[in-house]
Amino acid sequence: MKSLWIDNRFVSSSGKAIPVIDPSNEETIDEVADATCEEVGRAVASSRKAQAHWWNKVSAHERGELLHEISRRVKANASKLAETLTREGGKPLRENIDELGWVANCFDYYAELGRHQRGRVIPSIEPSQLSLVLKEPYGVVAAIAPWNYPLLLMAWKVAPALAAGNAVVIKPASQTPLSTLMMSEVFDCLPPGTVNIVTGLGSTAGDALVRHPDVAMVAFTGSLETGKSIARICADSVKKCHLELGGKDAFVVAEDADLEVAARAVAWAAFLNCGQVCTSAERIYVHHTIAQEFIEKLADFTRSLVIGPGMGPDTDVGPMIGGESRKNVEAHVADAIKRGAKLVAGGKRPSHLKKGFYYEPTILADADHRMAVMRDETFGPVCPIQTYKEFDEAVELANDSIYGLGANLYTNDAKKVKKFFERVQAGTIWINDPLTDNDAGPFGGYKATGGGRELGEEGLEEFRQSKHVHWDFEQKAKPWWYPYGKKTSVKLAQAK
Ligand code: NAD
Repeated sequence: MKSLWIDNRFVSSSGKAIPVIDPSNEETIDEVADATCEEVGRAVASSRKAQAHWWNKVSAHERGELLHEISRRVKANASKLAETLTREGGKPLRENIDELGWVANCFDYYAELGRHQRGRVIPSIEPSQLSLVLKEPYGVVAAIAPWNYPLLLMAWKVAPALAAGNAVVIKPASQTPLSTLMMSEVFDCLPPGTVNIVTGLGSTAGDALVRHPDVAMVAFTGSLETGKSIARICADSVKKCHLELGGKDAFVVAEDADLEVAARAVAWAAFLNCGQVCTSAERIYVHHTIAQEFIEKLADFTRSLVIGPGMGPDTDVGPMIGGESRKNVEAHVADAIKRGAKLVAGGKRPSHLKKGFYYEPTILADADHRMAVMRDETFGPVCPIQTYKEFDEAVELANDSIYGLGANLYTNDAKKVKKFFERVQAGTIWINDPLTDNDAGPFGGYKATGGGRELGEEGLEEFRQSKHVHWDFEQKAKPWWYPYGKKTSVKLAQAK
């Protein structure tokens, strides 16, 4: 059984074994420990010591060098990391190789940003004074990641947290812990304890980590319900809590769109990682005059996609992560059809794949907001389409969601573009290029998506607290100190 990684070495755990399942064939490929509360405490104590004694004293320049080294090691180990990601998470290998490239870039980005963003001198109140704004780390950060992009969403937390001078305890999702444990070969260039890894279930190891009094900040990506419960626990001890939660991204296709390109863009945005991306296009709004042609093109293209194991050389769409997720998708499709949606493509498990959590990429026409598939997060390969007449209506529909992570628009009409990015309540607006992230651009959501921001300068700021230092070189009594009596009456007399 794979164990925990504390102080740069693997240590055994007395926690129970959790199987890791290959979603492409439902076979157990390994087991990891469900770390006990005491073991989580050991990891936190180790990180606390490392942060206070070493990491916080390492110069920003040297930290940057170490983050670049992490990036170099990610690139050197990319093939085996990508294969592990595919075996435990099901994503096509090609997508995991891309994920590793983004992981490496993220560490390089924060290596440089951390060096250059070191606080500032601000204008002082009096000439005899110096005023500084310092940027300080929180201490120990708990980085809790989901299974859909295990290493990328870990990197979006760990890279800025380290650049800011924090130590980190990582808890990967119980479905995809192996790739994170493999990152031990990457992180062992750091002083022992700077990064520790504990595996386990959310309800045990995750809960123990969030509640630990020496964890100063929780950086969490996952579902709305888990995020709410973590926020409640953090509120009890007024602990800094960073939340990146669910999404229900809208994708609007305007009447001037190049339908060939827009159809391929929608297919990719809806079916990438089998639709299990927080920014998957989950609601498509198409202008009524082009809807029929668009749906035909999209359906033809969708039927041509190759479904199979992530390791298959031609696979476009792999399996879903597990049986429960697939049941949720099946329930959404059944509810939509019951309420009047028309099944255009997919809508079932592929008959040629007997084992594995597969579901065909699915197109539903005539969808509307009464249907769960247009309201709740589906997190699977389903693309429901609703038509609109006026662009204002499309904007309103896009905003009609509790979530606000991302939103897409296909058009070259500048007026529509401006209206869309001004009015749509979402953390990222993509015009004519869905789901492209940029290390320098903040990523996060409005509304129930949580409001945290990763990436960009904002992503570094989340992991630092600001300290204002006000320093007077002269020890002189100030005129506004006690006693007030006489001075107040003098001022009032002058005012008359
Ligand atoms: P999840 O909430 O079930 O689990 C996420 C992580 O939290 C896992 O590591 C899990 O073990 C841990 N966890 C669960 N319960 C916990 C608890 N009580 N205390 C501490 N930790 C706990 O989510 P998931 O199913 O792994 O991921 C899918 C969800 O993540 C979707 O809703 C998706 O939209 C969201 N997501 C959001 C973003 C974003 O950037 N906003 C990115 C990716 C995924």
